[in-house]
Amino acid sequence: MEGTALLQLPEGMRLAQIQITENGLVIEVIATHPSSCCPLCSEPSTSIHCHYHRTLRDVPCAGRRVQLFLTVRKFSCRNSYCPRKVFAERLLAFVEPWARMTIRHCQQLTSLGLATGGNGGTRLAARLGMQTSRQTILRRIMQLPDVSSGSVVYLGIDDFAFRRGWRFGTILVDLESHRVVDLLPDRHMETSAAWMYQHPDLFVVSRDRASAYASAASEAAPQALQIADRFHILKNLTEATQILLARCQAEIREASRQKDGGHELPTKHVFSVEEWRPLEPAHVEKVRRARRAGRHERYQLVIELHEQGMNPKRIAQRLDLSERTIQKWIAAETFPETKRRRKRQSCFNAFAPYVLKRWQDGEHHGASLVRELIEQGYTGSERTVYRYLEVFKQAEVKASASLHRLHKFSANAAIWLFVRDPKALDEIEREDLAAFCHMSTTLKRVYDLVQDFLCMVQKREGERLDTWLAQVAESALPELQSFAAGVEKDKDAVRAGLTWSINNGMVEGHVTKLKLIKRQGYGKAGFPLLRKRVLHAL
Ligand SMILES: [Zn+2]
Repeated sequence: MEGTALLQLPEGMRLAQIQITENGLVIEVIATHPSSCCPLCSEPSTSIHCHYHRTLRDVPCAGRRVQLFLTVRKFSCRNSYCPRKVFAERLLAFVEPWARMTIRHCQQLTSLGLATGGNGGTRLAARLGMQTSRQTILRRIMQLPDVSSGSVVYLGIDDFAFRRGWRFGTILVDLESHRVVDLLPDRHMETSAAWMYQHPDLFVVSRDRASAYASAASEAAPQALQIADRFHILKNLTEATQILLARCQAEIREASRQKDGGHELPTKHVFSVEEWRPLEPAHVEKVRRARRAGRHERYQLVIELHEQGMNPKRIAQRLDLSERTIQKWIAAETFPETKRRRKRQSCFNAFAPYVLKRWQDGEHHGASLVRELIEQGYTGSERTVYRYLEVFKQAEVKASASLHRLHKFSANAAIWLFVRDPKALDEIEREDLAAFCHMSTTLKRVYDLVQDFLCMVQKREGERLDTWLAQVAESALPELQSFAAGVEKDKDAVRAGLTWSINNGMVEGHVTKLKLIKRQGYGKAGFPLLRKRVLHAL
């Protein structure tokens, strides 16, 4: 009796014997229920016709494989109207009539398969004391019934890549229940439309900016409100702004070059106050220069070979450099200087702006400056102050955010000053931004327009969209105008995106999970397996 409970055998089964063999446990179980119901007429019968044996695989016990040796009976049906004379007793909820494994074993294999895929599931099962094959696991998964998506009212739709940039599928998420409701094998308009036709309850379709899903929804779910996802809208705006910044920077650089009369490099180095640090000792400086010269030579060689038509891989092999470095150098327009190590925190830093100001005011007497600093709470050494002052002999230090520093900004870096919440910028970033806007009225105009759009997104002020578009139309900024033209084509959905709180963030989350499942491999069993695994994911 205790054994029956321990092995969780159903009622009416008696544990007869447990044998430990080389391959695991063989458990003999005898069915003892006094009656069984005829599967045809459902009438219970107590007349036993004969006994027979079944061998079943069962869930492992303490890491050992388990084989059930089951003694079951056949009953005679006593219902004289029933055509069935003899029937095998049913052990419902424990084993299917013709199966060779128990239902609970089958469920465990399915869970393993859903979590790890065919090959992974087979390997893991072996570790856990379950004998199975990849085919069995795959069959179990494929036999799972499709979960009925039922009525979907708020739908999120997006694509995902089977192969990055190559082949795509579509993921559909119920934004109310937070569940993936289906996976489609491509991202064609017809496929999504066919799915939407079967779901007439759709009230909202939240989607990206691609036209396929827009057309599908317009055709198959004309009653639904389409919402363009805010993330995708902002991404488009960011890309447009980045192109614009790159153009403006090039223009500014050109203008300042002409102003300098072609003298590109000033004789003196210029540092901002944030970059100000003591000069390196002569021998360190010498080593650094030598290293730079070597690197510069290799750089020129790379460019030369590249211009001769050699591909990056060959260049990398020939010069014993990494291919990634070669690609970076080729992509860079000019020789990329190595980044100098971060400035070490010094107790002088806090006083640097003050010292700089005093120096520019004409106070060049070291001892007096030190005295002033100590009065203000400076606790560092006198020597440190002198080392900082020495820099003035060889270089110029500027208050902050000089034109020189802004030149070093790539459009990639500058874009973040433009599209982030100004409150999230630190002091230096704010100065850089102010310098940008000061430098050119175009940049200032761009900044105002971009921030206005972001504000509209954040505060859900979709009703201001038309005013914003009109301002862009007057702005003479072709990059933003091309963004606006895209918005104009899809204006209702964009406005809805800027008005409603719904967005596709949840769908993105499911795409991330899907990628994890995909990486475990679904190759041989194809899309249907991936679909089952995503829909039944734990
Ligand atoms: Zn019967």
